Amino acid sequence: MKTVGYAAHSAQDDLTPFHFERRDLRDNDVAIEILYTGICHSDLHQLRNDWEMSEYPMVPGHEIVGKVIDVGKDVKNYKVGDNVAVGCMVDSCQECDQCEHGEEQFCREGMTQTYNSPDRINGKITYGGYSKHIVVREEFVLSVSDKLDMKRAAPILCAGITTFAPLRDFEVEEGSRVGVIGLGGLGHMAVKLAKAMGAKVTVLTHSEGKVDKAKEMGADDVVLSTDEDAMENAANSLDLIINTVPVKHDLNPYMPLLDVGGTLVVVGQVGPVDELNTMPMVFGNRGVSGSLIGGIPRTQEVLDFCAEHDIHPKCEMIRMDEINDALKRLEKGEVAHRIVIDMSTLEAD
Ligand SMILES: [Zn+2]
Ligand SMILES: [Zn+2]
Repeated sequence: MKTVGYAAHSAQDDLTPFHFERRDLRDNDVAIEILYTGICHSDLHQLRNDWEMSEYPMVPGHEIVGKVIDVGKDVKNYKVGDNVAVGCMVDSCQECDQCEHGEEQFCREGMTQTYNSPDRINGKITYGGYSKHIVVREEFVLSVSDKLDMKRAAPILCAGITTFAPLRDFEVEEGSRVGVIGLGGLGHMAVKLAKAMGAKVTVLTHSEGKVDKAKEMGADDVVLSTDEDAMENAANSLDLIINTVPVKHDLNPYMPLLDVGGTLVVVGQVGPVDELNTMPMVFGNRGVSGSLIGGIPRTQEVLDFCAEHDIHPKCEMIRMDEINDALKRLEKGEVAHRIVIDMSTLEAD
């Protein structure tokens, strides 16, 4: 199938229109016309080759919603016209212990990512959602409820699942006390999801300008991390902290905010952090943990959870040809919440 997307041809290049072919349908494949794709901060890292594993040309995008336009002969759960979604993965071995219990992101053979990853069968590098069409095996296609607004659903596929998974792993429920650091794409979803689970949510921010925004998102409390007294008053007040900060920073000031046995989960930054003081960890069984997106069953669960609780990411819609400006704004930290590309603005030929 001929299609078109936007690709970068090197770490320095802007994205430009790129014509390419999607593979012929395998028996278990679903062909999707992409309607909307969210822009994730990791797209920027991949485009700039920050993790030194980028292949070009690169078509980024792993927050994808669209409509089924064709199915292979063995596809059971989807038919033409269905609203569907694709997240960060498009394949895995489907046989190892991790795949068996629905944590395909930790597949022992390595997951196949939606873009910049070799296809398990033909070895070609995968191209993502900054494009008009995508072909994905049925097991990695998610169903989107009619209750979700397709225009605003795409960021659930990365920002949503990334924050939903640790909230579930740490069994957040009615009365849990959850802290959220950062109020960007991930942070604002963490606030909404934790609130819907019945938690008392405290946003931790260093900018006074975010206080009103946090309240607007549903936060019960906001603590300014630059205010020493406020930080001291908040000691031992949280069971779980979801840390969405995407750049290197100091975790130490946040550890005393955890109650005995509490955990701070890193979901934003990948790489070294400042030297950690183990004092609050040992004297209180406090821990630091990490979390990577979520498996396919849980990704379906977060989509259904958002539909049930009417949770939509806060989105700003752009045209495909505005992508380079959007990425520059994201790089400068000028984007509140999530940018979504309207794929109808990309001509098919
Ligand atoms: Zn992402
Ligand atoms: Zn596996």
